[in-house]
Amino acid sequence: MPVPFAQNELFPGVLTSTPKLLFRDLQAVQDRLQRWHGPLEPREVWDPLTQLIYSICSSRTKDAESHAVMLALRERYNGWPIGPNSYDEVRWELLRDASVAEIEDTIRLATFPDRKAVQLKRTLQSITERTGALSLSFLSKYRTEKIRTWIEQLPGAGVKASAAVVNFSSLRRAAMAIDGHHQRIAIRLGAAPQNATARQVEEALMPLVPAGWTPLTLDDHHRLVKKLGQSLCTLRQTQCRRCPLRDICATGAGDSGA
Ligand code: SF4
Repeated sequence: MPVPFAQNELFPGVLTSTPKLLFRDLQAVQDRLQRWHGPLEPREVWDPLTQLIYSICSSRTKDAESHAVMLALRERYNGWPIGPNSYDEVRWELLRDASVAEIEDTIRLATFPDRKAVQLKRTLQSITERTGALSLSFLSKYRTEKIRTWIEQLPGAGVKASAAVVNFSSLRRAAMAIDGHHQRIAIRLGAAPQNATARQVEEALMPLVPAGWTPLTLDDHHRLVKKLGQSLCTLRQTQCRRCPLRDICATGAGDSGA
């Protein structure tokens, strides 16, 4: 059912276009992506602090490098040997107290390691100052919105990091983490205007989440959209003719594609 985007009250004054929405809710997207991709590997679920550290390190960084950075952090700060829950053993206090130069060297495979080293240290210091300890386990007692606000007040965390922590970590709450892939595809689908921020994209998509979706479904949805963004709908190229979303995509439906 097409929904004129201009009627969305979430974006007063920022609309630059009026894309068509060619699907009723995100189930239509999910069904097509699941058929296209097949089953996902289970996610390794971390505690909220480890997830936050990953989110900061992984910004604008490919998955392989992001995971290599986490392994380097784990090895340097005494989380060895590797095991399914071995991040529980990492002493993140050592990361907090390390010099910026040492952190930058440890995370050098990430993009902007100099900037992220400062962000990581300041974030971990801020958590310690605000709570008296380096842990985010207390967040489980908070409502989801309060968790997100708390995280977004940290120096290195924004809306995507807060969504990732509440949805991907052991907190497992409802949120949609909007990375660059998800942001780009939501705009191309016609679910958000050209200039929408990550927060605005999330606010546009959440009303399209079917009632029965769980936090795990939201996580799967994000991962499937991201895989499409890494393959057929990249920053540089759209392969609309091969795309499983073409019939419900405002861009693909009106384009001959690659
Ligand atoms: S149809 Fe084209 S623009 Fe739309 S999501 Fe697929 S590749 Fe991207």
